[in-house]
Amino acid sequence: MKKISDPKKFQQVMERLRASGKTIGFVPTMGALHEGHLSLVRASRKENDVTVASIFVNPTQFGPNEDLAKYPRPLQKDLALLAKEKNDFVFLPTPEAMYGKGEQTWVEVPESLTKGLCGAFRPGHFRGVATVVAKLFHLALPHRAYFGAKDFQQTAVIRKMIGDLNFNVELKVMPTVREKDGLAMSSRNAYLSAEERKRALVLSNVLFGIRDQIGKRALSIIKQEALARLKKETDRVDYLEIVDSETLEPVTKVQPRMVALAACYVGKTRLIDNVIIAAQKKG
Ligand code: AMP
Repeated sequence: MKKISDPKKFQQVMERLRASGKTIGFVPTMGALHEGHLSLVRASRKENDVTVASIFVNPTQFGPNEDLAKYPRPLQKDLALLAKEKNDFVFLPTPEAMYGKGEQTWVEVPESLTKGLCGAFRPGHFRGVATVVAKLFHLALPHRAYFGAKDFQQTAVIRKMIGDLNFNVELKVMPTVREKDGLAMSSRNAYLSAEERKRALVLSNVLFGIRDQIGKRALSIIKQEALARLKKETDRVDYLEIVDSETLEPVTKVQPRMVALAACYVGKTRLIDNVIIAAQKKG
């Protein structure tokens, strides 16, 4: 596995690969890798000649009171995991290399996708995400880019950005990888104490509960009860919503493409999760 830190060098290597006719699959991450990330690397390896991961804890997507400084950075372990998956290249830029030139240009994705859900609680987050992903796409020059459905709103934002800005990249959204008991894997799960880890399970339980009840009871009641339970069993709920999976607008009646999403705190750790609902029945 080749490691590259310099953005210009990285771009040159990727340009050469593309010119030689190789297809490039790209997996952007913030490191602290787990099976969720590795599932993206595996998906990319199946579909592309070359798989390229990046590890970059992007400062512009963190708010001033968020966990940028303490975000886990187990670099050697991450590199070993990527090498074991036969990932071909890893891009490891410093924050200075990515943002050291007094940049003033930002990628802003429309309000309709970014004002609600996580966007309402993390102002500027999706602007930071869209901007860094645009920069990374220009450097990695991928044919396909792999993202996890775990960050559902993020995938909607990236899809819109790719379309609006004519990126020549195919977006691949892969299913959320979960622990055996259902908790969505996340780098932030490492923050949880043993007691919090047990309580964190309520998040996936509540979302799967919503999915299982759709079509059987009124949507408003299902949502109300789910929210009440999440509030009772966690330390704070940012939101719990059932939305149209394309527009991210809240739905009031059952429709074919929906997703139930929530964000809550267990202790000081903010967790997000979502469950896609393919409903047939009206309710
Ligand atoms: P992160 O390092 O948290 O920024 O995540 C990098 C990529 O891995 C994003 O596309 C995430 O959606 C994806 N990812 C994170 N957790 C999971 C998971 N449990 N299952 C699948 N993909 C995930």
